[in-house]
Amino acid sequence: MTKDYIVFMDFDGTITTKDVGYEMFRKFTEGRTQPVVDLYRRGEVNSYTCLKTECQIWNRFPPAETEVLKYLNNQDFTGGFDRFIEMMNESDIRTCIVSEGFDFYINALLNSNGYPGLERITNKAVYKNGKIIPEFPYLGQGCGECSNCKGFHINRLTDPKTSAVFVGDGHSDFHGARAADIVFARSFLKEALEKTGRNYFEYGDFYDIIEIWKKISSRKLFAFSGRLSFCRASGDRREDFENLWQNGEVMKNVGYPAGLNWNRQQYDDFWETLNNRNFILFAVEDKKGNFLGEAKLSFPGEDNCCSHDVKLLPEYQGKGYGRESWLLLLELSRRRWPESVLEVTPSIDNEAAIELYSSLGFEFDGEQGEWNPPRGTPGAVTVHYRRMIKH
Ligand SMILES: [Mg+2]
Ligand SMILES: [Zn+2]
Repeated sequence: MTKDYIVFMDFDGTITTKDVGYEMFRKFTEGRTQPVVDLYRRGEVNSYTCLKTECQIWNRFPPAETEVLKYLNNQDFTGGFDRFIEMMNESDIRTCIVSEGFDFYINALLNSNGYPGLERITNKAVYKNGKIIPEFPYLGQGCGECSNCKGFHINRLTDPKTSAVFVGDGHSDFHGARAADIVFARSFLKEALEKTGRNYFEYGDFYDIIEIWKKISSRKLFAFSGRLSFCRASGDRREDFENLWQNGEVMKNVGYPAGLNWNRQQYDDFWETLNNRNFILFAVEDKKGNFLGEAKLSFPGEDNCCSHDVKLLPEYQGKGYGRESWLLLLELSRRRWPESVLEVTPSIDNEAAIELYSSLGFEFDGEQGEWNPPRGTPGAVTVHYRRMIKH
């Protein structure tokens, strides 16, 4: 299984064209479940209360099982879903359905449509004598509000080095979207993301997702914001990175006013061992694919500190790209290590960096020091720095 991506998908209204669960309850209770769903959609009750109440209403006058099965047999899957799953399997990418719906109808639909082995995490229910007895195995986990928090599962199943992708459409998808690095949204979820300013890809069906996915995978896209894309660094982008590191204007604040001046062997070693490091290196690109610089997402050390970093080519400095890169880094960091402390050590002369860090909430913690270049490094100089941290 590749570690580059993991794909989480909502079920109702995402994989199926209709919100199967919601419409099933509404149809067979003659609309009596609608008021509690309205309360849920307005945020006045949580999904647990909503689902439990829907079951209670259903169980007062349980419909004939044959009618329910007939209804389930008439549900359609969203166009392109089969092709998308095939594509993920071919690329060795793990896919997982995360749903607040109930297993009895989700399993029935997946199994009868040819997906018996597709991984799924759902609520459970015993469906017997027409009654639905719900069980919520993940209740209280994660946010504490959702009956089966998608954010909780995405956080626990995603390796920090992996980009988590989420596809959704509804109210129960907000926490899933917040925990994911790349989001595909339509309907209610799209409207909610519009309000928060979160960037997403819009889709109508899985054929749209497939088209966008081709670009995502060819660029190794990891996450993105309004103007910027973070693309996973690899040897095929080495020329851009090495030009950046050879640029004295870029490197002067970290002690290399004449550029890094590594020899071929040092660079080769770096690219060969890049995947074993305790950070992820990104190419920062604009939407046209121009290389603007690098961003580094660092894993917390033993002291629980993360030292993320951004370096941009001179022609892209002073245009707000540095700030936008940092905001995206902070988001990625918060998703992975919400408890860690962030640390930067700007050179005392680097006023632009200090101003940027201050505006992002970093504060001087009194520690200062000097960094000395390794012996025998041509053109490198001592850097005096002050430490800033952000909790
Ligand atoms: Mg849905
Ligand atoms: Zn939640």
